[in-house]
Amino acid sequence: MALTMPAGKRLAVSLGPDFDAHSVWMGTFRSTSQSDLSRGEFGAEVGAPRLLDTLRRYGITTTWSVPTHTMQTFPGAVAAVVEAGHEIAAHGVWHEYVPKLELDEERRLVELQVRLHEQLIGKRPRGYRSPALDITNNTFAVLEEFGFEWDSSLMGRDFYPYHPRLVTEIDKEQGNTFSDPYRLLEIPVSWGLDDFPELELLKGNATQQSNETLLARWKAAFDFAYERCPGGIVTLTLHPQTIGRSYNLLMLEAFIGYVQSHDGVWFPTISEAVDAWQPDVTNH
Ligand SMILES: [Zn+2]
Repeated sequence: MALTMPAGKRLAVSLGPDFDAHSVWMGTFRSTSQSDLSRGEFGAEVGAPRLLDTLRRYGITTTWSVPTHTMQTFPGAVAAVVEAGHEIAAHGVWHEYVPKLELDEERRLVELQVRLHEQLIGKRPRGYRSPALDITNNTFAVLEEFGFEWDSSLMGRDFYPYHPRLVTEIDKEQGNTFSDPYRLLEIPVSWGLDDFPELELLKGNATQQSNETLLARWKAAFDFAYERCPGGIVTLTLHPQTIGRSYNLLMLEAFIGYVQSHDGVWFPTISEAVDAWQPDVTNH
């Protein structure tokens, strides 16, 4: 199953930013430290405009996953993303940690983010990327109830979209049980192609990956998919507060230059990739 590519194209690449700003520190790391929040502010005030400029210069429109908290706290920065023609997807209200949510609270927060998205962006989101890339057993049913067409949070494939199924029963001695596949389409991600855990200094984790190592890994993933996965999509997850730092942005620009030196690369928004997905096309 692969994407029906535009004429002359063989591989899609998504460089979609997750525009967390303050919310990742509040939600995922439960921090109200002024130092942590200032890292989010950098993302909104410096990182996002820089990243917009890079994407414009390379002729790329993509999908930004934006918590509604970022839309409310940094409205000008989010308006600039919309004005540049990028898609906005849902990414939680305040980067809440979804796996801990009871069903009623999860549904309330999805309803709230759809309502705020309509109010602040002017249309409903077609897709969802869960904060911190994790979900509950209820998430996909709730997303389908609210009309979402795609999710981009799981890692059950690497370069091809798929209809995700969830593990409904864990049995250590007789094997696990899956749900039926969901209707919404999964655009898979991976921690290995996410800038944040590799490049951010986090308390209790004093290691940061070198830019050279990460650039080599991104190129290797692209090379593999370009040769072996026609009609696939390479999905990086980027964060303006991370990739917008000078040294990291130069790495991203080196990667985009490398990708664009190959013929036949398509940079769709995720919804454009979803619209191009053809379940009947065989892949390898
Ligand atoms: Zn995020």
